[in-house]
Amino acid sequence: LKNSFKFSLIYTLILILQTLSISLASLPQDLFHLKIASKIRTDEQSLLSVSTDYGNLTTSIPDAVLYPSSPHDISSLIRFSYSSSNPFPIAPRGNGHSINGQASAQDGVVINMTSLGYGHSNRIIVSIVNQYVDVGGEKLWIDLLHETLKYGLTPSSWTDYLHLTVGGTLSVGGISGQTSRYGPQISNVLELDVITGQGEMITCSKDQNSDLFLAVLGGMGQFGIITRARISLSPAPQKVHWIRLVYTDVLTFTRDQERLISAENSEGSPLRLFNYVEGSFLVDRGLLGSWRSPEFFTDSDYDRMSQLVTEDGLGGVYYIEGAVYYTDEIAVQVNQELELLLGELSYVPDYAFIRNVSYVEFLDRVHDGELKLRELGEWEVPHPWLNLFVPKSRILDFDAGVIKGILSNRSAAGIILMYPMNRNMWDDRMSTMIPDEEIFYTFGLLRSSSREKLQVMIDENDKILQFCNLAGIKYKQYLPHYATTKGWMKHFGKKWNNFLAMKAKYDPELILSPGSTILSSYI
Ligand code: FAD
Repeated sequence: LKNSFKFSLIYTLILILQTLSISLASLPQDLFHLKIASKIRTDEQSLLSVSTDYGNLTTSIPDAVLYPSSPHDISSLIRFSYSSSNPFPIAPRGNGHSINGQASAQDGVVINMTSLGYGHSNRIIVSIVNQYVDVGGEKLWIDLLHETLKYGLTPSSWTDYLHLTVGGTLSVGGISGQTSRYGPQISNVLELDVITGQGEMITCSKDQNSDLFLAVLGGMGQFGIITRARISLSPAPQKVHWIRLVYTDVLTFTRDQERLISAENSEGSPLRLFNYVEGSFLVDRGLLGSWRSPEFFTDSDYDRMSQLVTEDGLGGVYYIEGAVYYTDEIAVQVNQELELLLGELSYVPDYAFIRNVSYVEFLDRVHDGELKLRELGEWEVPHPWLNLFVPKSRILDFDAGVIKGILSNRSAAGIILMYPMNRNMWDDRMSTMIPDEEIFYTFGLLRSSSREKLQVMIDENDKILQFCNLAGIKYKQYLPHYATTKGWMKHFGKKWNNFLAMKAKYDPELILSPGSTILSSYI
C-alpha cells in the first residue's frame, strides 16, 4: 500500500510537470476534430494505463491514447500525424510486456492495440485447407492457441509465455525451445497487413512488398504496425512428455544440447525426438521452484538437487528442458524412442525428471507462475532483464566469465536461461539481429528486483556486456536496448544502412515506436 501510494504520488507529479509543458508539446487541436476523435482519450486513467511496462524501469506518459476499432482508425491517426506540420510520435502497444519503454510515445499517442479486437469475432480465422491462420496483431498467443486447437491445428513456434500479442512478439522475433527445430515465430509468418509511417495499409509477404515484410519482422515497430499476420499451422499433438535432465558441468550440458538440435540428426534418429530444447542454470535451492514453472519439481527433487549442488561445490546445476509431443495412437512407440534417447545422453544418472501433461498445459506453463506472483504482489516489480545471443564458439568462455564469474556472488540471482539455436532456421534478411555462427545460444537473465537492489542488477548487466566486449565475444542483444545511436549502429552492423533506408521509405517522419530510441539522437 505504501508503495502504491508512493507511485501514485510520483505519477501525479509527472502528470503535473507534463501538463505544464503541454502548451509546448501538445497534440494539434485538429486531431480532436477527426472522425476518430471519440476514440482518443486524454484522461488520467487512460494515460497512466500505458505509461510503464513489464520492465517497470521507465515512466513515459503520452499526450493521448487511441482505442481503435479498426485498422482504418490507426491509419487515420498516422496519416494525420504524417501530414501535419509538426508530426507527433505514435506507438502501438500490444500487451506492454517490453522492458525498456519500447511501446511508449512521449508527447505523442499510444495505440491500445487490444481495442482492435473488442466486439469483433473475426480477428482469428483458421483455414483448415491451407493450414494457416489469419490473426489480428493485437491478439494474445494464448487466444490463438485455443482457437486453432478447435480445428486440431497449432502454430509450431512459440514463446515461453503466451500472454503476449502476436504483433508484439513478431516485432522482436519470438523464441522458445521450439526455435531450434521450427525457427523463431518470425520464420513462421506467411503474410502481413501493415500500416506504415505514412498511414498506408499494405499487404506484404516474401513475394509481395518483400522489403517491408522482412523489415517489419523483428523490426521493433519501426516500419509499420502489424494489424494481421498469416501464420502457418500443423496438426496439433495432444500430449507432451516434459523432461528435465540435470548436469553438473557445462561441457556435457552444452554438448548434449547441441546433439539434440543438430540438423545432421536425420528424422529417424532418436536424437531428433525432442520438439523443444531449452536449458537453464539453477543457482541455488531458493530458486529451484522458480516462477516459470513452479509445479515441475517436487520437494524431494529439490532436496536431491541441493545435495548435488553442495557435494560438487558448484553453486548450481544445469538442466536441459525438453519436450516430446505425442498423440495417444503413437504413445507406446514414443515411449520406446524416449527411452533410447535418454540412454544416449550424459546427464547425471538418475537425474531425469519427466512429467506428462497436455499440450496446452505445457505451452501455457509460465502462466501459473504469473498468477502466483500476482497474488503475492510480486509481478509488478522492476525487471532489469538481459537477453543475449552468444555464438557457440564462445559459450564456454561466456559461462566461465558470466555464470561462474560475474553472477557467482548470487547477490542478485534469478532465472538464467541458456540454450542453443540453429542459424539456418532464421532468415537473416529480417530485422532481428543474430550472431554470425551456425549455432548460437540464447542467454536470458530474467530477474525481478526490489527498488533497492535494482542498481546492483543494472550494474551487473553492464558488467556482463563489458566482459563480452573485452573478451571479444560477438554477441547480439535480443530485445535490444541501447542508449546511444552508436550502440544501435554496432547492433545492426552492416545492416545499419538498410535499416536507415527502410526507415526513410516507410517511416520518413520518424513517427513510429519512438520508445526504442533508435533514431532520436541521430537526426
Ligand atoms: P509491447 O511490449 O506492447 O510492444 C513491444 C514492441 O512492439 C514495441 O516497440 C511496440 O511499439 C511494438 N508493437 C506492439 N504491437 C505491435 C504491432 N501490432 N505491430 C508493430 N509493432 C508492434 N520473448 C520471446 O521471444 N520469448 C519468450 O519466451 C518471452 N517470454 C517473455 C515472458 C515475459 C513474462 C515477458 C514480460 C516477456 C517475454 N518475452 C519473450 C519478450 C516479449 O516477446 C517482447 O517483449 C514482446 O515485444 C512483448 O509483446 P507485447 O505484446 O507485450 O508488446
